[in-house]
Amino acid sequence: LRTKLPAVGTTIFTRMSALANEHGAVNLGQGFPDFECDPALPGMVADAMRAGHNQYPAMAGVPLLREAISSKVSALYGRSYDAASEVTVTAGATQAITTAILCCVHPGDEVIVIEPAYDAYAPAIELAGGVMVPVSMQVGEDGYSIPWDKVAAAAGPRTRLIVINSPHNPTGSVLRRADIDALAAIVRGTDILLLSDEVYEHMVYDGAVHESVCRYPELAERAFVVSSFGKTYHVTGWKIGYVAAPAALMAEFRKVHQYYVFTVNTPMQHGIAGYMSDPAPYLELAAFYQRKRDLFRDGLQGSRFSLLPADGTYFQCVRYDAISAIPEADFAEWLTREVKVAAIPVSAFYSQATESGIVRFCFAKKDETLRLALERLAKL
Ligand code: PMP
Ligand code: GLN
Repeated sequence: LRTKLPAVGTTIFTRMSALANEHGAVNLGQGFPDFECDPALPGMVADAMRAGHNQYPAMAGVPLLREAISSKVSALYGRSYDAASEVTVTAGATQAITTAILCCVHPGDEVIVIEPAYDAYAPAIELAGGVMVPVSMQVGEDGYSIPWDKVAAAAGPRTRLIVINSPHNPTGSVLRRADIDALAAIVRGTDILLLSDEVYEHMVYDGAVHESVCRYPELAERAFVVSSFGKTYHVTGWKIGYVAAPAALMAEFRKVHQYYVFTVNTPMQHGIAGYMSDPAPYLELAAFYQRKRDLFRDGLQGSRFSLLPADGTYFQCVRYDAISAIPEADFAEWLTREVKVAAIPVSAFYSQATESGIVRFCFAKKDETLRLALERLAKL
């Protein structure tokens, strides 16, 4: 069989979680909470199952859920998406991302991806026959930032799509108004589309606002905006997310979606729709995770790790050059085996070999899990 994805192996998350389990390490690698969701949420899903919501829902998702998503986006970001034609429920953000890329990227089209980048973008571009054009973020004392002049230089007549992700995995950086303005200047007057991965939209710290693309009409009119209930409601295993996009883009999205998964499981959609009627869980998420971020950062102050800014997401990146000079993948493996704390090498988020001496920890963990990890890390 001639492979369609020659460079793809098993994801770094799967590999590091397996290594963590094998060595009994505290798993701060793969991003997922080690605590339970609000029990009211599975209760609502069970109620939906018992009430007989067990057959295929509408192809684009349960209407009640699409309406709840539309209301939330409108309340938070001021853009109204028509629940009937501009919102689709997906099997996690991953399916939304892959579907969005497959529905608009033609063979030979270029897609600009800012690296380090979440690992789902590149394979989807490759499956579509597109050409990924990576642009590296710069990293200094103030953390990671996007060199917009380089993005502008990478954009040209073959550019079909630019993928952005804020809050950003793995760096924990967030787009600011100046970034949005720079992006708008690049796409203005072109037919470049945007894929905005906003799965960590509710995890922005220190009082900053999430600069959703939905806030900016000239960006939103050309964007697929993606989010994930897995992140927001502490249920990463449920694999439910959504995409919002203008009707013309959504029509193309749904052509792929209906043959890719057709639709997403019914009872969880009903459960989530009911749960969304209370905004508190997502409005309180930033404070919830900011406290964990601070606990984790405080615990590493005075250690030989140096902390990069963590303005959003549930990830903390650290430099380890005072401890070791080995490559990131080796360091993450050593940390897992010998120190019994798993991390993710940031090099895994680049298409070309890039070593920055930085690894990523996930702090979406019980306080006791974080304390145990800190005890081990602070000794290094
Ligand atoms: N995008 C980013 C940036 C992510 O970190 C994740 C979570 N791994 C996803 C997309 C995928 O989300 P989901 O689990 O809902 O498919
Ligand atoms: N998004 C999660 C992370 O970055 C992992 C998702 C996955 O395992 N594919 O850690």
